[in-house]
Amino acid sequence: MTLTEVTTTQSTTWLSEFVDALGEDNVLDAHAEGIDAYLDPFAFHESARPAAVVRPSTVVEVQRVLAIARQYGLALWTISRGRNFAYGGAEARVAGSVICDLGRMDRILSVDEECGVAFVEPGVSFQALDAHLRAMGSGLGVSVPDLSWGSLIGNTLERGFSYTTQSEHQATQCGMEVVLADGDVVRTGMGALPGSDSWGNYRGAFGPGFDGLFFQSNLGIVTKMGIWLRRRPQRMACCSITVEGEEQLGDLVEALRPLLIDGTVQSNVVIGNAMIVTSSITTRDHFYDGPGLMPASALLAAREEFDIGSWNAQLGVYGSPELLAARQAAIERAVLTIPGASIVFDEYAGDVDPKLGSAHETE
Ligand SMILES: Cc1cc2nc3c(=O)[nH]c(=O)nc-3n(C[C@H](O)[C@H](O)[C@H](O)COP(=O)(O)OP(=O)(O)OC[C@H]3O[C@@H](n4cnc5c(N)ncnc54)[C@H](O)[C@@H]3O)c2cc1C
Repeated sequence: MTLTEVTTTQSTTWLSEFVDALGEDNVLDAHAEGIDAYLDPFAFHESARPAAVVRPSTVVEVQRVLAIARQYGLALWTISRGRNFAYGGAEARVAGSVICDLGRMDRILSVDEECGVAFVEPGVSFQALDAHLRAMGSGLGVSVPDLSWGSLIGNTLERGFSYTTQSEHQATQCGMEVVLADGDVVRTGMGALPGSDSWGNYRGAFGPGFDGLFFQSNLGIVTKMGIWLRRRPQRMACCSITVEGEEQLGDLVEALRPLLIDGTVQSNVVIGNAMIVTSSITTRDHFYDGPGLMPASALLAAREEFDIGSWNAQLGVYGSPELLAARQAAIERAVLTIPGASIVFDEYAGDVDPKLGSAHETE
């Protein structure tokens, strides 16, 4: 029997069990109004329509969902916020799955100002945690990817990246609570110790760690995660570097690589060609509205108008004014050895409002 046959033949029974467990408002059947929000809005293939959507709000409800799925052989597709548009959004990979939407579990459970640790549920977005920290007057900040409406948990489980001193999110998670397929709840790191009050402070555990099992995997539903936050720096600067020649990409990489390895450059470095940078500033018809590929002359006009290089790098530096100055000097020394290279530092206060800069310039 295929998955779609399993889900449709017995749907009356399992749907009513989901309703008993979660309440009518939190179960959508395949034809419910609102079900299309769980399809990829940019799909270029046939959509994988779900058999249902269920929206648990507690760990116990997640366990009930898993119990029903086990009993009826249903495939579950878990989403935290399901906002990775253009990569599928909330859509399940397999048609006929039951989507388990954790968006109602959206509590920021704790913020430890002293140790720089927050615990969140799956529905908490980067944006929401940032707003929460600002509202409570915290000196801590979140490191945010290009898109802040995704969840901290979904992004971290996908091994996402942002652009500050804590760019590698997998490395800043400090403990998870996970419901396994059989309904057991496990906690990783120091949370595995019953009654532990140091969950989140030490990423390791007594004995073997198994956090890695839950990254880019389908071995469990993560219901809580700890995240190491960063203290907002005194100052920060966005550094934009351009080089003129197509062939200078290698020189640019070689100039920056040692600075990344020795820690002078504290963020990821993003390097884009003229086309991608132009497309983030304006639309194609600004320079060319003909058919086919944009001709080289149009790209050259764009480069001149917006002062774009053949290759364009962006990175961030952070710290006290003295540290910022020292880092800037080291970066200039390395980069300006490249003929025709230019470099600009835009400096901001460490608590700058993200809306004042571009995504790469801010948190
Ligand atoms: C325009 C754009 C720009 C972006 N830029 C960046 C960027 O710079 N850096 C970056 O890292 N990302 C980037 N992203 C991705 C985005 O930031 C989020 O990573 C993405 O939306 C994931 O968050 P989500 O809550 O939507 O995850 P979801 O779509 O809900 O989940 C992501 C994956 O994790 C699984 N999953 C989710 N929650 C759980 C859970 N609780 N337990 C078990 N498995 C789970 C899901 O099955 C799915 O496979 C970008 C996306 C877009 C559209």
